[in-house]
Amino acid sequence: MHYDYAIVGAGFAGSVLAERLASQAGKTVLLIDKRHHIGGNAYDCPNEDGILIHLYGPHIFHTNSPDVFSYLSQFTEWRPYEHRVLASVDGKLLPIPINLDTVNKLYGYNFTSEELAEYFKTVGEQVDEIRTSEDVVVSQVGRDLYEKFFRGYTRKQWGVDPSELDKMVTSRIPTRTNQDDRYFTDEFQYMPLHGYTKMFEKMVDHPNIHQMLSTDFKEVKDQLSFDELIYTGPVDEYFDFCFGKLPYRSLRFDHQTLDTPDYQPVSVVNYPNDHAYTRITEYKKLTGQEHPKTSLTFEYPQDEGDPYYPVPRPENAALYRQYKELADEQTGVHFVGRLGTYRYYNMDQVVAQALTLYKKLVGAESLHEVA
Ligand code: FAD
Repeated sequence: MHYDYAIVGAGFAGSVLAERLASQAGKTVLLIDKRHHIGGNAYDCPNEDGILIHLYGPHIFHTNSPDVFSYLSQFTEWRPYEHRVLASVDGKLLPIPINLDTVNKLYGYNFTSEELAEYFKTVGEQVDEIRTSEDVVVSQVGRDLYEKFFRGYTRKQWGVDPSELDKMVTSRIPTRTNQDDRYFTDEFQYMPLHGYTKMFEKMVDHPNIHQMLSTDFKEVKDQLSFDELIYTGPVDEYFDFCFGKLPYRSLRFDHQTLDTPDYQPVSVVNYPNDHAYTRITEYKKLTGQEHPKTSLTFEYPQDEGDPYYPVPRPENAALYRQYKELADEQTGVHFVGRLGTYRYYNMDQVVAQALTLYKKLVGAESLHEVA
């Protein structure tokens, strides 16, 4: 069969575009994924005990975009959920991002917000130019808090010292002088009521969308017939790594179920210092599911494996620019999403990026028709 669009990857980027092109523009779409499921990294499924888990690590939805939120609301109801994370430091479980309670409980102080702001000024180190992830943190909260909460975690997560990592990695995490212990402050913070996969199923349930799962695009591309290609897989792989491999950090997920209803006080506990894993997620605390057992995921960062996090170093950005130039020269091929544009994006950002590409595609077409 001939398709208007072949879309590689059924994660947020691919599924949003498939949905828009099929339901709004009447296009025929072939949606291909090498995994056995849709949903990309946001895929969730019940495990053998019937507990809903996220196979590729915890995904928490948050956005400030009313457009993204209302778009996704067509495909799911929501469960209000504000994410809170504790870090295991010096034998205590303390709020992260660092806030007033973190400092008071760690050191046994009784600071007010104003006193904490003064304290940060005294311990924060003078850094002339903030370039690295270490610079960001030591300038804000000083070396001791940096060592206890950030250095070990970042080294595990990225395999390099924060002093060698772009400032953007730790700039994402705020420091607070009040007691706000929410991980995100976005206006919309929810989990899909019945999970991400159910939301994706509804999104791509359209007669114009055909799914081809457990299929690597490389293996079938010569047998397919389509006008335009939307590619959400790794951009370097598309071009057969002609300039070299773009480095990614990967993760090994150790999923476990315990014969106890409750394991930890919040859904995610970070382990910056003491273990090979970076964090433990307890899913029932994300999803609100009631169950006599509980399921956990331990995350072990590693270099090998599925590409998860683009490594933010200047030489990698330069390498990506070479691929980007080549990508821009292609006609009828559109690169989008986290892997297609070699950039760490949250889910809402990928949805926004996909909606923008959709508008561009239909806009270009109507211009073409007018001409
Ligand atoms: P993906 O979801 O990766 O989808 C790409 C798809 O393309 C994959 O399914 C892949 O199998 C397929 N593919 C690749 N190559 C081929 C090929 N050759 N042939 C066929 N198929 C192919 N974001 C948040 O907003 N909140 C969070 O809490 C959050 N937590 C995260 C936790 C982890 C551990 C990770 C890794 C990411 C997290 N994210 C989170 C980010 C979120 O996962 C991404 O924003 C989102 O998945 C990106 O969607 P995408 O469609 O670009 O990519």
